[in-house]
Amino acid sequence: MSSDIISRYNQVQERIDKACKDAGRDPGEVMLVAVSKTKPDEDVLKLIEHGHFHFGENRAKALQDRMESIKNPAAVWHFIGNLQTNKIKYMVERVNWIQSIHKMKALKEVEKRASEINRVINVLIQVNISDEDQKSGCDPEKLEGILKYAQDLKYTKVRGLMGMATFTDDLDVVRPEFKLLKKLRDEHKHLSEGSVDLKHLSMGMTNDLEVAIQEGSTMVRVGTAIFGERNY
Ligand SMILES: *Cc1c(COP(=O)(O)O)cnc(C)c1O
Repeated sequence: MSSDIISRYNQVQERIDKACKDAGRDPGEVMLVAVSKTKPDEDVLKLIEHGHFHFGENRAKALQDRMESIKNPAAVWHFIGNLQTNKIKYMVERVNWIQSIHKMKALKEVEKRASEINRVINVLIQVNISDEDQKSGCDPEKLEGILKYAQDLKYTKVRGLMGMATFTDDLDVVRPEFKLLKKLRDEHKHLSEGSVDLKHLSMGMTNDLEVAIQEGSTMVRVGTAIFGERNY
């Protein structure tokens, strides 16, 4: 229903505002990325009309289709899923952020494709903080090498780190994982030079955004609480 999505969106904003207030943080420091995966364009358009512009998708094809059908130039697109190297070319044409880079090879491809079309892409380096799924992010030990490499890029701006916590309702499991991501950011902050600026921490989803904000998140990626349950 049409008004539902706006009220759910407003509730999420309220949760963010309250979590910031409780943590003594400025709500302006936390960006909300609405994760619209599997949901109709209509819902995305309603949010845009409401004044929300940041959207995330975790599948390359879904994001391509979305960017194709929603022409509003004010929309800001985040790719947040596992990205195959051969899809990077298509992402780079329109996407604003790629939050899920975890290999030098992928950075190299983003740089190559972005330079061909003279476009700047913001990226986050995804770090594996949960050891639940080895594919979802780089090993913390690889981070230094990746960041040093990224310093000299021109079209690819590393703006921070992204992490996916263990898929559980147990916030005692999730909290140390968020703490780890923040610690890694702090430990590597001195590498913020050239095209690297480790400002952002993208962490926190529907179930754990409060904990993530307490632990320093600057970007929460929220799907279910805004768009409703998904089938997967
Ligand atoms: C689906 C997804 C989210 C949003 O998850 P919800 O629990 O629905 O809020 C956030 N980040 C990534 C990478 C996702 O794939």
